Amino acid sequence: MKVPFLDLKTQYDSIKNEIIPAINNVLENTAFVLGKAVTDFETNFAALQQVKYCVATGSGTDGNHMVLWSLGIGPGDEVIIPANTFIATAWGATLCGATPVFVDCEPDSYNIDPEKIEAAITSKTKAIVAVHLYGQPADLDAINQIAIRHNLLVVEDCAQAHMAEYKGKRVGGLSTLASFSFYPGKNLGAYGEGGAVTTNDPLLAKKVLMIRDHGAVNKYHHEIYGHNYRMDGIQGAVLGVKLKYIENWTAARRNNALKYRNALEGISDIILPVEMNYAKHVYHLFVIRMADGKIETRDRLADFLNDKGISTGLHYPIPLHLQECFKHLGYKKGDFPVSENLGRTGLSLPMFAELTDDQIAYVASSIAGFFNIIKSTEPEVHGISSGVGTF
Ligand SMILES: *Cc1c(COP(=O)(O)O)cnc(C)c1O
Repeated sequence: MKVPFLDLKTQYDSIKNEIIPAINNVLENTAFVLGKAVTDFETNFAALQQVKYCVATGSGTDGNHMVLWSLGIGPGDEVIIPANTFIATAWGATLCGATPVFVDCEPDSYNIDPEKIEAAITSKTKAIVAVHLYGQPADLDAINQIAIRHNLLVVEDCAQAHMAEYKGKRVGGLSTLASFSFYPGKNLGAYGEGGAVTTNDPLLAKKVLMIRDHGAVNKYHHEIYGHNYRMDGIQGAVLGVKLKYIENWTAARRNNALKYRNALEGISDIILPVEMNYAKHVYHLFVIRMADGKIETRDRLADFLNDKGISTGLHYPIPLHLQECFKHLGYKKGDFPVSENLGRTGLSLPMFAELTDDQIAYVASSIAGFFNIIKSTEPEVHGISSGVGTF
């Protein structure tokens, strides 16, 4: 059996009779950039995320940039970012000329650890980026309390968290501004690049709208600095069709996560993702961790699964503070042990709405089979308990 990490073709086949006419409509109207398909999508996506304004953009990275740009973040400012996230979260700060300041993640949610934020705050700190990683919201109440105490802004990176909820409310409107990605592999994916910024603040929405289109509301009247961060009409049309299904696809992901949980919970060699009591997790990724804390175990398991036709992923093998591009910031190995441990021992299992029961059962039995083999061939591995579940 083959289990791809992600299967975009099965989903495309299920909706292509709506996608093709929607794209054709954009072509016939030659509405290649922005246009009705995009504005309709903006309206509907804002409603879905329970937020007042949505500005569609070219990518999640564009969104990360505009979120901080619209707040006036610039050179000399520091922005607090989790060490365990995709690099694009940090580009939001660096593209503004600001400095990213990293904070370790929690061992259960894998999101930024609110208890470690205060130690990273300086007189230059302006904002905290709450990333809802893997589809699980960060602890926004705890983060907001810190922000209020220190007079900081909070923004969200929702690239992996469409439809996710924090204490019953959808993410994207729970901070000053938020960004989403519609990269094809995200929970809501375009057929090319795409992203959005959402906010409840009309003035900030207007500012993002202007930045997106060369700092102008009226053509050739450039009131502020800007960029070309517009969304293509075709992407708006594709996303408009897909919006009708995102509720079902999200439920399917959650259901698949539950099936993985039931099938894997007896394997003590792995640690399953924890769903926080305040969160509705939307499982962009289903990341397991090796209980023995060893990179060798993770890599051998990935190879073993690969040989059985099962593709897996790593999110993220090198935390941001250890990336070459941030060498000048002076971080070193050991600074953020929880993120570093996750980078060494985390393994993302296949996760998408269309995963079948057979595929889930096959992945689970293959993982069980792997640990049975290493136990029978290397009894000493089984006996090691130091470091189990610790960082
Ligand atoms: C994907 C992603 C982004 C960037 O989105 P793009 O659309 O690929 O530019 C930003 N932040 C996180 C957490 C992501 O996963």
